[in-house]
Amino acid sequence: MFEKTDEVKVLRDPVHGYIRVELKVIWDCINSAWFQRLRRIRQLGGANMVYHCAEHTRFAHSLGVYEIVRRMVTEVPDIVAALSERDKVAVMAAGLLHDLGHGPYSHAFETVTNTSHEEYTCRIIEEDTEITRILNDAAPGMAKEVADVIRHAGKNPLLSQIVSSQLDADRMDYLLRDAYFTGTKYGEFDMERILRTLRIEKGRQLVVKQSGVYAVENYIMSRYHMYWQVYYHPTARSYECIMHALFRRLKELYADDPSDLIEIFRPLVKKGPISLPDYFRLDESSCGYAFDVLAGHDDPIVRDMAERIRDRRLFEYADSTPERVAELQQQLKEAGLDEEYYLGHDSVRQSPYVPYTGSQDSRIWIRMKDGSIRELSDASTIVYSLTHGPTNDDNKVFYPREIRSGV
Ligand code: CA
Repeated sequence: MFEKTDEVKVLRDPVHGYIRVELKVIWDCINSAWFQRLRRIRQLGGANMVYHCAEHTRFAHSLGVYEIVRRMVTEVPDIVAALSERDKVAVMAAGLLHDLGHGPYSHAFETVTNTSHEEYTCRIIEEDTEITRILNDAAPGMAKEVADVIRHAGKNPLLSQIVSSQLDADRMDYLLRDAYFTGTKYGEFDMERILRTLRIEKGRQLVVKQSGVYAVENYIMSRYHMYWQVYYHPTARSYECIMHALFRRLKELYADDPSDLIEIFRPLVKKGPISLPDYFRLDESSCGYAFDVLAGHDDPIVRDMAERIRDRRLFEYADSTPERVAELQQQLKEAGLDEEYYLGHDSVRQSPYVPYTGSQDSRIWIRMKDGSIRELSDASTIVYSLTHGPTNDDNKVFYPREIRSGV
C-alpha cells in the first residue's frame, strides 16, 4: 500500500477545475526542488511573443498531465481493472514527471544543447536526485519503473500509451492548456467524451469506442490548428532563430575557453553533457538575466542578439525561395552583416496524424460496433481526408528588418 497524504490536496486549475493529490509520493515529488524548477520554465518558448497571455509554465502543464492520468486510472473502468496499484502509481508519477528535464525556452534549447529533454528527464529521475529518493522510498525500484514508462521501455505498454502515444494525457493537456492561455478557441476539444469512450483491447492497447470517433476527430483538428496557429507561428520561430544565432556566436567565441563568459552559459558552450547541478540552474529567470548582461557585451553580434531577445526586436520573415535568399544575401553583404547570424532558415512540416509509420503506439485505434478494431483513418472520413491530402509545410527565411527597408 502506498502512503496517503493526511487529507486530499486540491490545486485549482483553469483547465481541469481541480487537480487532486492523495498520494504522499506524488505530493513529495511536487514539493521537490526539481519539480518546483518547472515554475521557472514556460510551456511555450517563443509563442508568448505572439500570444501575450501564453505565460503558463511547465509546472502547470505537468500537474495537468498528472491529473488526466489520475482520472484515467481511477475513472476509466477498463484501466482501473487492468492495472495493479503499483502500476497506477508509476504511471501517475510518470505523467507528473515526464517534462522534468525540459530546459528553458521549450524546444529552442534542445537544439542548442543537442540533447532531448527526455534524456535529462530520465537522468533526473534515476541519477540519485531528491526525486530518485522520493520514488524509491515509496517502493524499491520505483524510480527505474517511472523512467521506463517515460522511455517506452516498461513491461506493460499500456502505461506508456497513457502518458505518451497519439491520444495521451500529455497531448490532451497541452492542447487544452495552450488553447486556453493563447485564447485560440478552436484548440479546444471534448476530453470528457474521449475519457468516457476509452477502452482496452486484449489487455495491452488503448482503443476508443466508435461512438467516441467524433470527439477524436475534433482532437485531431485541434492539433492541426494549434500547430499552424501557435506552435509554428513564424513570429515564434523568429524568436527561436535569434536565440540559435546568439548561442552559435557564443560557441564560436567561447568554445575553447569559456572562463570570460557569464557563468550560467558556460556549460552550454562546452562539448559534452551538462551536469545535473548545472542543468538545474538553467531556467528562464537565470537566462533572462544573462541576456540582459550580454546586451552590454563587447562583441556587436552578441550584443545585438541579446538585445533583440530581451526587447523583442525580432527578425522579419518571408517565404524562402532561391531568388529571395540570394537577394537577402546581397543586402546583408552591403549592410556589413554576417549571414551566418543574420540570415535564418527554418522549415517545418506537420501532419496532425500519421497513420502508417512507427509502432502500434503511434496510431489511434477504434473499436467498431461489431467489435472489430480499425485504425482511425479507416474509421473517420475527416481523418482519412487529412492524412491523404497534401502535406503542409512552410519554409521561411528570417532577416533583420533594417536591410529590407528599401525593398
Ligand atoms: Ca509535455
